[in-house]
Amino acid sequence: MDEPNIIPAPEFLGPMTGHPTLVARFHCPLGCGWWHEEPTDPGPARLPLRPDWTIDWEAHDLVLKARDEAFRVGVEHAIAEHYRKRHPEH
Ligand SMILES: [Zn+2]
Repeated sequence: MDEPNIIPAPEFLGPMTGHPTLVARFHCPLGCGWWHEEPTDPGPARLPLRPDWTIDWEAHDLVLKARDEAFRVGVEHAIAEHYRKRHPEH
């Protein structure tokens, strides 16, 4: 994938800016006025416990990584889809 470089820096919106939920808003890099909003607050990750009742930080890390990945893929997909529909020349 060579898409990450087309992803613009997002604008963060939330209750403090009058938006009902926390989202990252990615504007079209070509400035056509389109944007994509991706939620940034899926709630706290659940801490997995080992059988001996200690926290499994390794598994916790994997959960966070999976979230990051899902977020990135969601944004990339939305922007790629927008390019395909509105900017097929790119
Ligand atoms: Zn556009």
